[in-house]
Amino acid sequence: MGKNADVLKDGMTCYKKIDKTKDGTGKLEKQRLLRLIEALGGLYPNASTALRYENPFQLLVATILSAQCTDKRVNTVTERLFKKYKTPEDFACADMLELQEDIKECGLFRSKSKSIIEASRKIVEKYGGKVPADFDKLVKLPGVGRKTANVILANAFGIPAFAVDTHVFRLARRMGFSDKKDVLGVEKDLMEKIPKQLWIKAHHWLIYHGREVCRAKKPACGKCPLNELCPKKFLE
Ligand code: SF4
Repeated sequence: MGKNADVLKDGMTCYKKIDKTKDGTGKLEKQRLLRLIEALGGLYPNASTALRYENPFQLLVATILSAQCTDKRVNTVTERLFKKYKTPEDFACADMLELQEDIKECGLFRSKSKSIIEASRKIVEKYGGKVPADFDKLVKLPGVGRKTANVILANAFGIPAFAVDTHVFRLARRMGFSDKKDVLGVEKDLMEKIPKQLWIKAHHWLIYHGREVCRAKKPACGKCPLNELCPKKFLE
């Protein structure tokens, strides 16, 4: 924690200075946010997606399954699923009722199986069995919204994108990255305030911190290492 402690100490010193100074240009607030994201990175240097996948298509299926389900449960289901259905063609030809049974544990199994089969058909018919590395094409696939498209771009293709899920949305507002009330507004603010080369990692850092410390109910501000840097906005 040596390096992390330095980052945090540095950040806190900076915040104290900022707190005392009002320059009216927003420059110091920008510095505070940078310190905050840097400190967050120091806390979770190895953060990455918990979903297991071997290619973009498997990540797409796993991400569709992860709606309102834990990553752990998705991994248990996909371990079996990807042995049974090996390619987009296999999913495209799957029997709907059989697939529903195969993914039942993940919940919302009717809509998820429909999305998986229809997205697979489109990928096979329109993109030769390859998931497109393109946001506009991804969001046109059945069952794929902004968040899923950004998860695929960032994690499967390494293309900078900011996927805003419930943790990212909550933390971005509490930490002062955004005061917007909609996902797109928060996504835009995060992309504006965080350097592009950090977008993919920052998404994971925020999720880790949201799960471990800054939970939806009762955030542990008292023992949060970011306490002095964080304005703690929008806390109930
Ligand atoms: S200080 Fe509180 S609100 Fe801010 S990041 Fe930490 S837990 Fe969340």
